[in-house]
Amino acid sequence: MSALRVLVWNEGRHEKQDEAVGRVYPNGLHGAIADGLREAGFEVRTAVLDEPEHGLTEDALAQTDVLLWWGHKAHEDVRDEIVDRVQARVLAGMGLIVLHSAHFSKIFKRLMGTTCNLKWREIGEKERVWVVNPAHPIADGLPDQFVIPHEEMYGEPFGIPEPDSLVFISWFAGGEVFRSGCCYYRGQGKVFYFRPGHETFPTYYQAEVRQVLNNAVRWAAPTNGPGVPVVHVHEPLEDVPVWRG
Ligand code: ZN
Repeated sequence: MSALRVLVWNEGRHEKQDEAVGRVYPNGLHGAIADGLREAGFEVRTAVLDEPEHGLTEDALAQTDVLLWWGHKAHEDVRDEIVDRVQARVLAGMGLIVLHSAHFSKIFKRLMGTTCNLKWREIGEKERVWVVNPAHPIADGLPDQFVIPHEEMYGEPFGIPEPDSLVFISWFAGGEVFRSGCCYYRGQGKVFYFRPGHETFPTYYQAEVRQVLNNAVRWAAPTNGPGVPVVHVHEPLEDVPVWRG
């Protein structure tokens, strides 16, 4: 089987505008995320907001099995027609992995249909990520819990629809909890939201986090290849009489 084709999309603004972020992620958040996925054997490309069509051309998406999305300060700069295009690809079967502050991205809010609101606090506290569904493929190879030493806190209530599967719940040193690994089916596509990954912390270098993303790519990949939406009248398979009333 040929390697899954992964596209890591990043807004790419913090790294340029904030020296502290550039120090943690000299090749951008997308660079660090892509490195971990390449080590796992995936065929990985990257794209950023400031490329033409945000690097999300029809052609780029046609060559993508799973798209990862990191964004924070420039959600509104993502053009609506590109969001329409990504949404259509997800509904046709492309996997989508939504990271951290991308809970407020246009594409995630579109796919959820809810506010995606949450509480947050940025003091670099400890996050303990609990596996609450050890049988789920995204939990493969992980311990029953792992610690991220310093992270931003996200707290419940998280304004999302009830997940189709919940894989992780995070606990924070300040006392809050959060549904930090949420799976959804949308059309023929699969969507995974993963909470950790604030831009000033080296979260995307951590082994357990990379394991989660590797597992998530495998889970979110199209099962039978991206399909075509079914929108036609269907002839009966059996010899069935037409009821005339
Ligand atoms: Zn953040």
